[in-house]
This record gives sequence, structure tokens and C-alpha cells, in this order.
Amino acid sequence: MDCIFCQIVKKEMPADVVYEDEKILAFKDINPKAPVHILLIPKKHIESLNKADETDKGLIGELFWRAKFLAVELGLAQSGYKLILNCGKGAGQVVDHIHLHLLGGGNFSQWNI
Ligand code: 5GP
Ligand code: ZN
Repeated sequence: MDCIFCQIVKKEMPADVVYEDEKILAFKDINPKAPVHILLIPKKHIESLNKADETDKGLIGELFWRAKFLAVELGLAQSGYKLILNCGKGAGQVVDHIHLHLLGGGNFSQWNI
């Protein structure tokens, strides 16, 4: 069976999509941890950064590059935003389809690293 995010890509599951092209999809997180919480995913199923291979590196770069423009569109570029990629269960990865969290619009002092 397809993973949840593959189902969203195939429109078998609803999602609040904010950006789509032939390779990437971005949609609102169902359980937002910040006033703005977007997930950026490749349409290709890649389980995690650990499982990505050399041929995926352009795609992973595109997630970050797209986040830059979404941050502008969503009014976060000046106030600041965080990009988080959880890799593996130990780091809190729950959905096994690589995704980049774009978080903004809140007070991030408790998340400083
Ligand atoms: P992870 O913890 O794997 O890095 O993040 C997974 C994220 O996916 C969580 O923030 C969770 O709220 C979000 N999520 C899980 N299932 C769904 C879903 O069906 N739709 C949407 N839009 N987000 C989901
Ligand atoms: Zn998937």
C-alpha cells in the first residue's frame, strides 16, 4: 500500500496544497506546530535522507530552493523561518516519505540549536 504522502501526491487523500510542479508538492501540515507549517515533499517516494541516493540530490536541493520562495509568498522571509528534516525514528520521523518542514510566524526561541 502507498504511504500517506504518496496518496496525497496521487490525490487519493485530500491536502491543502500550496505549491505543485512536476517533481515537488507542498501542503499544509495537518497538525501545525507553528502559525505557518508547510511540508515540502518530492513526488518520488524516498523513505528518508538515509535512503536517498546520488540521483536524488538535485531533488533534495529543490525542496530547499522551493522553500525559499514559499517563505517569501507566505510572508516569512523577513520575520524568519525554520527548515527541519527529521531523518529516522530516533529524530522523530513518523512519515516514511522524505519531507522538509517549513515553519514560521511564531516564537522559535524554544527551538534554538
Ligand atoms: P515527521 O514527524 O515525520 O517529520 O513529520 C510528519 C508530519 O506529517 C507531522 O508534522 C504530521 O502532522 C504530518 N502529517 C501526518 N499525516 C498527515 C496527513 O495525512 N496530512 C497532512 N497534511 N499532514 C500529515
Ligand atoms: Zn511515499
